[in-house]
Amino acid sequence: MENVDVIIVGSGVAGLSLSIKLAELRNDLSIAVFTKSDDFESNTRYAQGGIAGVFDLKQDSFQDHINDTLSAGGGLCNEEIVKKIIYSAPERILELEKWGVDFTKNKAGDKEAVLEGGHSFPRVIHSKDQTGSEVENSLLKKIKEFPSIQMYNHFRVIELVSRKENGTTVLDGVKVLDSISESIKVLFSKVVVLSTGGCGQIFQFTTNPKIATGDGIALAKKVGAVVKGMNFIQFHPTAFYEKEMSPMFLISEAVRGAGAHIVNKEEKRFVFDYDVRGELATRDIVTKSILSELKNSNQEHVYLDCRHIEFKKFQRSFPTILAYCEGKGYNISHDLIPIVPAAHYQCGGIVVDEFGETNVQNLFAIGECSNTGMHGKNRLASNSLLEALAFAHFSANKIAQSISCKSINKTIVSDQKWGNFFQDEILDIQHELQKIMSHYAMIGSSIHELEIGFKKIDDLENEHQNLFANTAFSIDKWSLLNSFVISKMIVNESISELLKEKVEMEIS
Ligand SMILES: Cc1cc2nc3c(=O)[nH]c(=O)nc-3n(C[C@H](O)[C@H](O)[C@H](O)COP(=O)(O)OP(=O)(O)OC[C@H]3O[C@@H](n4cnc5c(N)ncnc54)[C@H](O)[C@@H]3O)c2cc1C
Repeated sequence: MENVDVIIVGSGVAGLSLSIKLAELRNDLSIAVFTKSDDFESNTRYAQGGIAGVFDLKQDSFQDHINDTLSAGGGLCNEEIVKKIIYSAPERILELEKWGVDFTKNKAGDKEAVLEGGHSFPRVIHSKDQTGSEVENSLLKKIKEFPSIQMYNHFRVIELVSRKENGTTVLDGVKVLDSISESIKVLFSKVVVLSTGGCGQIFQFTTNPKIATGDGIALAKKVGAVVKGMNFIQFHPTAFYEKEMSPMFLISEAVRGAGAHIVNKEEKRFVFDYDVRGELATRDIVTKSILSELKNSNQEHVYLDCRHIEFKKFQRSFPTILAYCEGKGYNISHDLIPIVPAAHYQCGGIVVDEFGETNVQNLFAIGECSNTGMHGKNRLASNSLLEALAFAHFSANKIAQSISCKSINKTIVSDQKWGNFFQDEILDIQHELQKIMSHYAMIGSSIHELEIGFKKIDDLENEHQNLFANTAFSIDKWSLLNSFVISKMIVNESISELLKEKVEMEIS
């Protein structure tokens, strides 16, 4: 193993597309992609709905896509960034096609565009209901064409190596745990890019896979990067309800776009009581309406009603969802499908500029772990794969132009013992923390509930201080301690936001 010019942490759509772009622009740069699990495992792989982008300029417009995004973001988007990303969407989608992604076509042979909640026009380009795995597979295939990119699976970055220079924090590389050779190494590079995805696994009910533990947020925070907006966790309204299941299976927004209704146990549609757009309101609104229905009715779930949707159409558009429901014993033509909201997407994250650069020198962040200003309070459906692709493009150009030519004269260090100490105890604590988060830090939680949640998190952490202090390094302990940091960030920022809203209301 050698030091490299660029280290990319994460092999989802953000990290993979950045590595390809960078290798295309500068084939003289050595690039290492570290990923903590198998290369395919990521949030990206599970994306169903698709990628938003305007292609029909007669009936739709960039401005409409921009307006829909700003409206979903509740006044907290950065309009310049929103415009930059949305204007870049068709080019990014066409680029994916060039790299081998097979998008679903309509009868005329054009890419089929469908409607999702919060969009004023059908503009979501997709690959049936498996867009993410189609994108992930194609990118993994594509990177094999570039000898300058090396993939390292089961390499988990556990620390960012930094130093102070004239008062500024400068990043020199990463500390990485190689679980195959069971060693820990420090590797140096000129640039490090975090593309580590979201943090859904902080919650008990989530659609995110096990890798989504917010590592990038904790790593960046520890070296002084600015992290903001962690309270804006998006809850997807329609996760398939199964007790104790993590991750939960998602029933895409596109199913509501195709006409599915949300009903309570009396089979009454209730979302219209909260918003005139009904089931096609933005996710925060639909989620809040379900949570309020659950509270009032004391039920554990509500239902998705697809019985009136033509079966053949459903089968053609949503083969994966159909197979999942059937596998669980539900016939979508006859049965109501049990659903609940689940933590789905992290709208905030590591604050970056228009090229993905953080306030720490040599550190970039792209994709779901970053806070670019695109999503504000609430992400518009299918805008996140787009944001990841667009920022991979912007930061690749910036890195290609600005990377230093100096060679790295540092020696790779290999050391430190680690093991799986007290694994069961630590996983139990993690599970307890997830439950607290799902109970006290949901969208719509009151200041009082959040404060109780914070106290419970603090008590849980203090109760186990001896275990944390007296065991040697283990991955589970490292993950758990990060989870405490991230949970507290989410709860604290939620309380601050509610207090701010309260003051604003009192003033007006
Ligand atoms: C079920 C589901 C459906 C979705 N549907 C859509 C959709 O239709 N449209 C849309 O736009 N978005 C959708 N999303 C959101 C979208 O998939 C994600 O926002 C996007 O894929 C994030 O890409 P990413 O590259 O930033 O992160 P990810 O794809 O999550 O990749 C993160 C990578 O970082 C690695 N990693 C993490 N920590 C470390 C570490 N410490 N060391 C090394 N590697 C590490 C992980 O192993 C992984 O490879 C969906 C998400 C889910 C969960």
